[in-house]
Amino acid sequence: MCGVFGAFAQKDKLLLEDIYLGLFALQHRGQEAAGVAWIGPDGMLQSFKGMGLVHEALDQKRLSQIAARGAIGHVRYSTSGASIITNAQPLAANYAKGPVAISHNGNITNAEGIRLNLENRGAIFQSTTDTEVIIHLMAHQSHKAPLDALIDALERLNGAYSLAVLFKDALVAARDPWGFRPLVLGRRDDTYYVASESCALDLIRAEVIRNIEPGEVVVINDGGLSSLRIPLKAKRHYFCSFEYVYFARPDSIIDGRCVYIVRKEMGRRLAAASPCSRAQLVTDMPDSGTIAATGYADASGLPYERTIVRNRYVGRTFIQPTQKVRELGVQIKLNPMREVIDGKPLVVVDDSIVRGTTVAKVVSMMRKCGAREIHMRISSPPVRFPCYYGIDTPTRQELAAARFASLEDLKSSIEVDSLAYLKESDLVAAIGMPRDELCLACFNGEYLEEGNEGGFEL
Ligand code: AMP
Ligand code: SF4
Repeated sequence: MCGVFGAFAQKDKLLLEDIYLGLFALQHRGQEAAGVAWIGPDGMLQSFKGMGLVHEALDQKRLSQIAARGAIGHVRYSTSGASIITNAQPLAANYAKGPVAISHNGNITNAEGIRLNLENRGAIFQSTTDTEVIIHLMAHQSHKAPLDALIDALERLNGAYSLAVLFKDALVAARDPWGFRPLVLGRRDDTYYVASESCALDLIRAEVIRNIEPGEVVVINDGGLSSLRIPLKAKRHYFCSFEYVYFARPDSIIDGRCVYIVRKEMGRRLAAASPCSRAQLVTDMPDSGTIAATGYADASGLPYERTIVRNRYVGRTFIQPTQKVRELGVQIKLNPMREVIDGKPLVVVDDSIVRGTTVAKVVSMMRKCGAREIHMRISSPPVRFPCYYGIDTPTRQELAAARFASLEDLKSSIEVDSLAYLKESDLVAAIGMPRDELCLACFNGEYLEEGNEGGFEL
């Protein structure tokens, strides 16, 4: 995942606190590290990065006193490269044409090939992230102006990138031609902003102007705002459907769709296709299943009840790096209420089953509290394939829905009375985009068709 945020004003002003707050609103997109980079009144590029949550990694008080015309920020959760400070972003460098800093959300699928190619020509990489290839590609085009070198670099990339790029005199926001990850443009007074999600603009009271389109490069500089296109190489869009299922914050509007409304509709459609007449109430895995559960309850006419209380001070379990910590995590953060559960047949809704760790724990908790029947309902199709576009999903062998020969076997293994998933067609209908505009690869294995695995001439 990861979250990016950027701002550019018409004169030096205290921009860094906006970046801090924007990152704070995007914290759900990455908890491993956070960073900011800015161009100060002296024209120098500076950056500050740290491990952990935004408030651990960055000093709000210090940032709030720093004046800049342009600044970008990043929250990281690793899909490429280890979880260490050298891989934290923004990645910043001074090359032949001046300073450049990049915040990237996504995963460049031909980065390894490009990197090998560049290393064979003598490039020395500082980090192990895919993002660094962009800076090196630009440096190889140092006869060009920075913006042209950037666009030249982007043309060579496959996969997912939503970028905020800072130059000495401009902020550039770019989205890959497939549109995997979201990116939105905003404005407050004389300052333009770009953010992974609109919730970050809400917090700093910036008005959402519009989405950055797939393949679009928006340049903000002294002359205001202009829009360019990465020469078209995408045959179709691949908007990530999982952003709607799980990743994005429900109060964000992604590519024109309110995530909360989409999630609720997923629950409604799940209830229509997989009803459960035996259940007495609908409950959820908090908080990932909550919105879909209320949709399910609405459509089924069953009451919705909370049965598990989540310790709100514990982060999302999946983000923890090891299996051991992940397993412990579920117990640390969830407490079931016997008084509500005991003796009842329940529908339990969650958004997805990945490794199957969460569902196994929840079922065992509910059984211990006396649940008479557990009917598991999942508001997305079975996750059977890994994601290569910026989401940290495990290998096929680790994915619960791929490990078992049939859903019946999975059902028996997690010891539920019934198990049903949202149909792919209902997921598409709930999002409300044409099927061939959406990426559904982790559900159906239909990955982006790619050529050019890094072999190129500079
Ligand atoms: P698991 O325990 O591995 O089956 O993970 C499923 C839980 O993690 C669900 O409750 C989801 O809300 C959440 N989740 C699903 N997919 C992902 C993902 N790719 N990254 C992080 N969390 C996820
Ligand atoms: Fe999103 Fe899944 Fe496609 Fe990855 S594979 S971009 S998680 S829909």
